[in-house]
Amino acid sequence: MSSKQEQLEQLNKEMLACSKCALRAGCSRVVPGEGSAEAEIMFIGEGPGKKEDELGRPFVGAAGKFLDEMLASIKLKRDDIYIANIVKCRPPENRDPLPEEAEACWLWLLEQIKIIEPKLIVFLGRHSMNRFFPNEKISETHGKLLIKNFGLNKRQYFLALYHPASALYNGGMRETLLKDFKKIPKALEVANKK
Ligand code: URA
Repeated sequence: MSSKQEQLEQLNKEMLACSKCALRAGCSRVVPGEGSAEAEIMFIGEGPGKKEDELGRPFVGAAGKFLDEMLASIKLKRDDIYIANIVKCRPPENRDPLPEEAEACWLWLLEQIKIIEPKLIVFLGRHSMNRFFPNEKISETHGKLLIKNFGLNKRQYFLALYHPASALYNGGMRETLLKDFKKIPKALEVANKK
């Protein structure tokens, strides 16, 4: 069996060749995700924006800068974690991904999770959370640990956060996100104890 890193590299190649939905034709680059294949924590955002589309990397724009700042606040670096998105191709004008686009990309995300086997999945924003927990409201669940049987009936731990972009022009939201982010180490500890 090849290493997790090799499996991810193979999967990335397949994602780069994907044209299962219309988004691929309208974007510049596919953004499969990046980070450590051995990560205990996997972050899941919504989809690439303009900068991500240019560079083929997730969270490299203004929201990404804030994400890096929050990671540093809990002594984590990008190399310690894995970051992916619900859709790997930029929706035009940064609109929300359509249900059929998220559906077409869903198997890629499931494969990424299967390979990485993160102890904790952190949702960045409601779109990401609602893909896994359709009935939850981010205003109620942010900063709370969610648990659900996932994959091979494995108990999977999730933490929902507001999207970093929502904090860019809203000081209150920034404080909330920073506060919720600080819950990550404890959430990981709980997930590791299961
Ligand atoms: N917003 C997202 O949801 N994902 C990115 O990769 C960048 C911005």
